[in-house]
Amino acid sequence: MSAYHVPDSTGLIKLDAMENPYPWPDGMEEDWLDYLRGVPLNRYPDPSATSLKNCLRGSLEAAGDNEILLGNGSDELIQIIQLGAVGRDGVIVAPVPSFVMYEMTARFVGAKFVGVPLSPDFAIDEDAMLRAIRDHRPSVVFLAYPNNPTGNLFDRGAIGRIINETKGLVVVDEAYHAFAGTSFVDELAGYDNLIVMRTLSKLGLAGLRLGYVIGPAELLDEFEKVRMPYNISALTQRTAEFALGRLDVFEHQASRIVAERDRVYAHLDALEGIAPYPSKTNFILFRSNRLDAPALYDRLVEHGILVKGFGDHGSGLDHCLRVTVGTRRENDVFMAALAAILSGR
Ligand SMILES: *Cc1c(COP(=O)(O)O)cnc(C)c1O
Repeated sequence: MSAYHVPDSTGLIKLDAMENPYPWPDGMEEDWLDYLRGVPLNRYPDPSATSLKNCLRGSLEAAGDNEILLGNGSDELIQIIQLGAVGRDGVIVAPVPSFVMYEMTARFVGAKFVGVPLSPDFAIDEDAMLRAIRDHRPSVVFLAYPNNPTGNLFDRGAIGRIINETKGLVVVDEAYHAFAGTSFVDELAGYDNLIVMRTLSKLGLAGLRLGYVIGPAELLDEFEKVRMPYNISALTQRTAEFALGRLDVFEHQASRIVAERDRVYAHLDALEGIAPYPSKTNFILFRSNRLDAPALYDRLVEHGILVKGFGDHGSGLDHCLRVTVGTRRENDVFMAALAAILSGR
């Protein structure tokens, strides 16, 4: 294996990691610092983060009787879920291409990863998924909704049938919930093997590291057994409470990102040599039909722009790059650079 590589972005417009590009409104940082004052750093944090969980419940309209499990980013939750539910010789099923940590984490825990290829337009292959589930009896199925790196939403009906077919657990990963306008949280009551995972990262708090899972208490209590007791720092708990109190700020920023996403999509769609894929996230995957993708990636870096390339990732992405939606100005710089590169300038 190799460690997860994060390229140096010094001096570049950073459009590679699905970060929210907007600063906070005037005065909000001061309010936050005031809010942090008095956090007792000599004490361990509240191990069950009761106050933060109550804030989260308040902001989740349909959480109902469900329990909440917190992770140091959803990356850690993926690890907790796999440690708790899979272990050695267990099986994880997920579509490919999808979020790479599902497969990487399976390797850490010694589980077998079965990747089920998406169709050429990146729709979920329901028959192949159901077959893989029957043949391999996975302990956990991961479905990113919307999917990363393709940006699309899988068919809801297919997801429902996959949940019904799975004897193990199905994790619907809603990392891009803020941009998607749809969710499985209100379907939790209809299944006993479904949990929904979200994160504050893509909403605008990637540096904070807070992810959460919503699901039935009987299931989440099991995962509490493998969670490190102080995985959410006192500063994270307090900051997340502050941010949830200002959720309107982040949701407004998300709506601006969605408007920019649609503008960038239309522009890319009109560019000869580029084929963007429809997105319900804060990024756009696009195919480069004229220049090969690694060359285009390098030319964009020369223009001061960092996007995401897929190297030898395989699985249908060799001609693709992924661009995160930035501010209007950043997007304009990106689109002008792309047009210049493609026209040979
Ligand atoms: C970014 C991302 C995550 C990880 O989010 P963190 O909370 O920052 O660890 C999880 N799932 C998907 C699909 C993602 O794209």
